[in-house]
Amino acid sequence: MIELWAVGGYSEIGKNLTAIRYKDEVIIFDMGIDVSKLISYEGEAWKLNSRKLLNIGALPDDTQMRREWGGMVKAIICTHGHLDHIGAITKLANNYRNAPIIATPFTIEVIRNQEKDQKARLENKIIKLNPGSIFKINKDLTVEFVYATHSTLQTAMIALHTPEGVIMYTNDWKFDDNPTFGKKSDYATLKKLGKQGVLALISDSTRIDHYGRTFSESLVKEMLKDLLLNLKHEDKLIVLTTFASHCARIRNMVDIAKKMGRTPIIFGRSMRNYLDASTRAKLINFKDTEIASYKDEVSAAFERIEKVGRKKFILIMTGNQGEPDAMLSKMARNELDLRFQKGDVVVFCSETIPTPICEANRGNIEKQLRDKGVRLFLDVHVSGHASREDHRDLLKMVKPKHYIPSHGTLQKLASAVELAIEEGYKLGENAHLLQDGQRLKIS
Ligand SMILES: [Zn+2]
Repeated sequence: MIELWAVGGYSEIGKNLTAIRYKDEVIIFDMGIDVSKLISYEGEAWKLNSRKLLNIGALPDDTQMRREWGGMVKAIICTHGHLDHIGAITKLANNYRNAPIIATPFTIEVIRNQEKDQKARLENKIIKLNPGSIFKINKDLTVEFVYATHSTLQTAMIALHTPEGVIMYTNDWKFDDNPTFGKKSDYATLKKLGKQGVLALISDSTRIDHYGRTFSESLVKEMLKDLLLNLKHEDKLIVLTTFASHCARIRNMVDIAKKMGRTPIIFGRSMRNYLDASTRAKLINFKDTEIASYKDEVSAAFERIEKVGRKKFILIMTGNQGEPDAMLSKMARNELDLRFQKGDVVVFCSETIPTPICEANRGNIEKQLRDKGVRLFLDVHVSGHASREDHRDLLKMVKPKHYIPSHGTLQKLASAVELAIEEGYKLGENAHLLQDGQRLKIS
């Protein structure tokens, strides 16, 4: 029998943490943080201690699970480098210090950056596992990383091989058949696992209520080319903003800037963290691109932009959600030496995270920019999350005995269960609706 403890990410989007128990062995999947709870703390959020972070609902509440299962944890396995999957590692992993952290090389680099930034020290052993590879944890448990596409690099779907069958944990993925970097998701292995027998599939449901398919990142590349290579007022400053973790998209922005004859400069601490991780993991190399994150680097870059001419540069920066402490917001509030002028261009390569605070922040920054006469281009973006029909495809490929949607609000999880019912599953029998803190036994 396998027991699942839904610790976090089953009542909200963010703070993912699932524990799986086989006999007296426990595996933790993901250790994420709910970033939306940190926004009002701006740059100070990381200084909050674990208790405070738990109280404001940013950390998954693992207190009870730790009390009962903590001594049995054999590994912490992370799917990818987004903060809602790894952001709690520096706060919680030391509570399971005998358990190694297993993740792809890129994800490990991102975790290392977090550790450095927060002056934390992880005592856990670190194991780098490439997508497509297998690692034997002990005589009963083996982890397999199945390559998946998503909006950051080296994302893995986890197949945990147990004597009771395979437990699949696919938390954040999309099926991108034309990725702009890397390979497609590993359909052959997914089908092979489906044939072998998957006992349970625990899967991301953040975009389950979007009908149809999530389109390929190559569309964003084409949209950016179409927009930037045909701009009519090319003597103005151009600013692009997107998610710092989206290394492939940022590389495309850099390449298009060069094609336009402009010098790309990347701004922001989180941009540097993810892009350096990509370079260090020998994936997409950003050594040829200037990244300014420290105060003096930013000042020097701004000085050069004014001296050489604003039309010679493209600025890529953080702030796509209108976060008040991000570069773009500071620039929009005239807090930086470089200021917007009428006719400058800002392109948002993102969608707004649908929480009241994010929507309010985005509304504010858009208004500030419009008031300055900045030309806005919005929604140059495709999601990194699977849509409804992609989920149906995954279910048909993997054919799990049990289906457990995760990473969503109650409404999204219910919508995922509804999809499973359409595919012949029965609620409470083999399609399960769990909330944070609930447990489930399956066999
Ligand atoms: Zn993700």
